[in-house]
Amino acid sequence: MTDYSPLPRELAEPKPATEATKRVNQTFLDRLDFSDRQSFEDAGRGFIATLDPMTIPHDRAPDRAAFDLSQFGFLEGDAADTVNPSLWRQSQLNAMHHGLYEVVDGIYQIRSFDIANMTLIRGDTGWIIIDPLTSSETSRAGLKLANEKLGERPVVAIIHTHSHADHFAGVMGVVTHEQVESGEVTVIAPEHYVNEALSENVLAGNVMGRRATYMYGNLLSPSPTGFVSTGLGAALSMGSTGFVVPNDIISETGEKRVVDGVEIEFQMTPGTEAPAEMVFYFPQFKALCMSEITSHHLHNVYTPRGAQVRDALAWNAQINESIDLFGDRLEVEFASHHWPIWGRENVVRYLKKQRDLYKYIHDQTLRLANKGYVKEEIAEQIKLPDSLGCEFYNRDYYGTLHHNARAVYVKYLGFFDGNPAHLYPLPPGESAKRYVDYMGGADTIVEKAKAAFAEGDYRWVAEVVNHVVMTDPEHFEARALLADTFEQLGYQSESGPWRNFFLCGTLELRDGLPKGSSFGATESMARSIPLENLFLTLAVRLNGPAADGIELHLNLDFGDGHTATMSVENSVLQAFEGRHHPSPTATLKISLIDYKLMMMRLTDAMTLLEEKRLEIEGDAAALAQLAGLFDNFERRFPIVTPRPAW
Ligand SMILES: [Zn+2]
Repeated sequence: MTDYSPLPRELAEPKPATEATKRVNQTFLDRLDFSDRQSFEDAGRGFIATLDPMTIPHDRAPDRAAFDLSQFGFLEGDAADTVNPSLWRQSQLNAMHHGLYEVVDGIYQIRSFDIANMTLIRGDTGWIIIDPLTSSETSRAGLKLANEKLGERPVVAIIHTHSHADHFAGVMGVVTHEQVESGEVTVIAPEHYVNEALSENVLAGNVMGRRATYMYGNLLSPSPTGFVSTGLGAALSMGSTGFVVPNDIISETGEKRVVDGVEIEFQMTPGTEAPAEMVFYFPQFKALCMSEITSHHLHNVYTPRGAQVRDALAWNAQINESIDLFGDRLEVEFASHHWPIWGRENVVRYLKKQRDLYKYIHDQTLRLANKGYVKEEIAEQIKLPDSLGCEFYNRDYYGTLHHNARAVYVKYLGFFDGNPAHLYPLPPGESAKRYVDYMGGADTIVEKAKAAFAEGDYRWVAEVVNHVVMTDPEHFEARALLADTFEQLGYQSESGPWRNFFLCGTLELRDGLPKGSSFGATESMARSIPLENLFLTLAVRLNGPAADGIELHLNLDFGDGHTATMSVENSVLQAFEGRHHPSPTATLKISLIDYKLMMMRLTDAMTLLEEKRLEIEGDAAALAQLAGLFDNFERRFPIVTPRPAW
């Protein structure tokens, strides 16, 4: 059993900010220059129109919006004491500046119709669209607004800056598969885009998706005690998603294209913010698109939703290269999040300080690591110089100095700190039981922790009371105290993701696990996923212990000589295209798309057999046996409470 009872109502109410939290938040007001309103000027510049109310309906779920900013009126005025004032400022910049904006004549942006921006470039005959958002609903609404206000034009090209879903998953709102397959619409993307988009978001997709709900705060309601921002953008849309395979791949810095009369010069920036990414320059507009390499915050060298650690040194080098390649030609810089910066000097100063931000974190982390400090000690002592740290665009709104320093450590040294006491640890549930026992039992711990809470020692309370909750999630007092503790830590966080993580923890400790279904694929995903990637995801779903002792080989015949073989042996699924096993358990004649739909559980073998879309030679039972070996992943597994025994 993984679920647990909700807390009684009187223990589960949102709490006001404590005096300790107010004191922490005051230090931000003291250090930063809130009279500097340049960002507000830039975020409002070139405004053309927006939606009123700012609500975009969901295509298939009439009861909820795909994107909704209509509840953010509370952000007007001074910061509530339940929100870090620096994050409040960033939230105002994100949520209160939505709509269609002109960057320069011919370049327009849809901002805060989603977490990212969609940029439209006016070509000779149509629109070149950069990054069609996360949901088809939001990208379609953005394109519609642009067409209404700027004149109706067809979409002639799409550029995906990188392999993250907030820059491609809304693509079906602006294009059809047929338009891409026929070549009517050019879809440009960086080298390795398809592989990275599918592997980064699919192989570990379920766990990342669950953690992303914490990071982006999808389950929190907008309010001064709840959701205020993702830091990266106003909020993440929750609509219909899709994917198209690009028909023009950029692989080298210096490559150029002329698309619908618009010249574009590309710079490859892989292995930094995303594994596949590029930035580009429009000479006719003297405009540089920095994609997500620079933004108005410190980005994530490690993203708390979970991903491989990124390379801070490469990040620094690539921003430097952008300055070298385009710094003396540009007049404006825009990106896939936040607002543009106008004026060559302003842009170059900004690019240099973003560059130096990553270099500083990289160098100083390794300096301290080489002195023997472990990652938590480094994170605690590393501080930015004022010249970097007091620039609002270098603040912790998305990544934080604290977790990015730990990330640099892990990039170079891995998760182990060299201390053998940490080489062979007990799993959290097991150590928690022993901690609770050694510390005098749950009630004693909670009494002591309440005193620490009263003193504002929230980080320590979180660490200790977590052991009690991991041992006994039905200990209401412990759960309530841990929820209240996360809440104050959330109120203090300058980072949107940190606030969201803390407040989602609070929510689930108070209310129980959210309802959720198993991870579900879509037909659009099935159409797009390359067979090789599908095989990789199937192998990840194979339950190794359940497959112990089983050996089966399926030959697949997709027609037109396209073959593959898929085997389970040694509890491992191996699959190879263009091959057949010499003595198969069964051979399947099936179209590629039907095979994908079947393996992604969007249809089943019985239906396909009845409709004569599948023929099986050999042992038909093997197919059923194989289907029984795959795990289904629970979407809403426990994070702040114990996982089920295994
Ligand atoms: Zn993004």
